[in-house]
Amino acid sequence: MDAIIIALDDHLAEVGETYAVEGTINITTFSLGEREFCLPNGLQYDVVLTNAGEGILATGVVRGHVKATCDRCLDDTEFDVVGEVDEYYLFHEPDPGVLEDDEEEGPDYLLVESDSTINLADSITSAFAMELPYVVLCKEDCAGLCPVCGENLNHVDCGHAEQLEREAEEARLASSPFAALLDLDLEK
Ligand SMILES: [Zn+2]
Ligand SMILES: [Zn+2]
Repeated sequence: MDAIIIALDDHLAEVGETYAVEGTINITTFSLGEREFCLPNGLQYDVVLTNAGEGILATGVVRGHVKATCDRCLDDTEFDVVGEVDEYYLFHEPDPGVLEDDEEEGPDYLLVESDSTINLADSITSAFAMELPYVVLCKEDCAGLCPVCGENLNHVDCGHAEQLEREAEEARLASSPFAALLDLDLEK
C-alpha cells in the first residue's frame, strides 16, 4: 500500500497551524482475518492535521464502498463504511516516567519521523478496519439458505421450512405423555 507522506515543515511548522489533506488510497481489496472485502473505489480520506505543540493531531474521516459476500445466504452484497481518524503523532518519545506504562495495550500515539514527516496511511486504514462488520449480512433479516435443498430463501420459498416445522411439531406431540391418548378411538 502506498504511503501518505506529509512534510510538516511545509504546512505545520508553527504551533496552532492546521493543514487539510484529502485523497484516495487506491487499494482494491482489504483483508481482515479470513475475510476479504472488495473496494471498487478505494478509500477516500479527509483529514485535518493540527500542530498541537507536543505533536501533530490528525482527525477526520475515511470512507469506502465495500463489496462482500453475505455470511448467511452467500449472495454478493455492498455497503458503505465510514471510519473516524483520530491519531496523535508526537514530536519526541515522551519521558518514560511521564506516561503510565501500559504494556498490554502499547502506546496510543505514533511518532513524527526524524525527517519531520508523518505517514498517514496506517492511521487511515486502521480507522477504516475498525468499522468493518464482523458479520456480513445482505440485509438484517436475511433468510439464509434452506438447510434441506440449499435454495436461497430470500428469493425462493421451497417449502422445506414449513415441512421441517410440521415435523418438529409432530415429534413434539409424539414425545408428549398424552401421545397415547391421541390414538384412542373415542367414537366407539
Ligand atoms: Zn443474505
Ligand atoms: Zn428447501
